[in-house]
Amino acid sequence: VVERPASVVKELVENCFDAGATQVMVDVEQGGARLIKIRDNGCGIDKEDLPLALSRHATSKINSLQDLEQVATMGFRGEALPSISSVSRLSLISRREGVSCAWRVQADGSEEDLDPQPDPHPLGTTLEVCDLFYNTPARRKFLKSAKTEFGHIETLLKRMALSRFDVAFELKHNQREIFNFKIADTQEQQEQRIAHIFGSAFLDNSVLIDFSASGMRLHGWVGLPTFSRSQQDMQYFYVNGRLIKDRLVTHAIKQAYQDVLFHGRHSVYVLYLELDPSLVDVNAHPQKLEVRFREGRTVHDFLFKALHRSLADVRPQTQVSEPVAESEA
Ligand code: ADP
Ligand code: MG
Repeated sequence: VVERPASVVKELVENCFDAGATQVMVDVEQGGARLIKIRDNGCGIDKEDLPLALSRHATSKINSLQDLEQVATMGFRGEALPSISSVSRLSLISRREGVSCAWRVQADGSEEDLDPQPDPHPLGTTLEVCDLFYNTPARRKFLKSAKTEFGHIETLLKRMALSRFDVAFELKHNQREIFNFKIADTQEQQEQRIAHIFGSAFLDNSVLIDFSASGMRLHGWVGLPTFSRSQQDMQYFYVNGRLIKDRLVTHAIKQAYQDVLFHGRHSVYVLYLELDPSLVDVNAHPQKLEVRFREGRTVHDFLFKALHRSLADVRPQTQVSEPVAESEA
């Protein structure tokens, strides 16, 4: 749904991933209402495909403001770019490998300017979304302050950054750099990225786990019971690379922490569950981030056991974390 600037960013960054990009740069102005600019180094789009990428909801379909409001609310259904272009002034610039130059198309609602023009853009794609909802006043009115809207974008991008350590991410707001994550191949680099997002205290107070059983793998960082929070703001759980929020998962984790956490406190974790994609439906409720596991109880048991064991392993000694390596040397 083109609900707010962050939902635009989500669709566009997913397109960058789809294009095999290893670098994603996001420039935002005024919380995204003024500008959302996303550049990647992915495979690019052929010149002749550029107009097509934008024009599925072409003007013939949209005759009134009311239609536009509908486009904005009904969701993308695999038509992110046309939906976004119908509620913004959008330009798309792309260069494919082996092609002599990049090409640009623009769509400001008139749809008359889809004739590609040459552009000096390097390999990859840039999408510029200007003046979001300029033609849908009802939607525009629902936007919160620039600070709030940008906050949503920042949170979203951090979550995405933790799902793809093999991609570099850069975020700017009003020309100010917010973060710049390099590709993180090693554990050390990955922990640097995590420390940037959650603060280094998270890493000082968590353990790296890696568990496999029943065809599933659970790995990532789980906080020690002594490092709990009053809010659930440091709980990131990914299923096959996709951030989810699921009752079954939350319940299994809660249960594993039950005996070691004070009442009303919340555990912290960044966890990745990998399992056969046919055993999970990630599109059950895309907006709510819910998933549906085919064998829910097996997943629940696996998560509980993996975490329960990890916590049991660390509980006795790790109240004080000494650097072990030094004394052994
Ligand atoms: P979908 O992603 O569901 O195919 P979109 O509207 O998001 O629909 O994108 C339309 C098409 O435009 C994509 O299928 C892809 O071919 C192309 N495209 C969009 N963004 C990019 C990008 N960053 N890099 C390469 N191709 C892109
Ligand atoms: Mg898409």
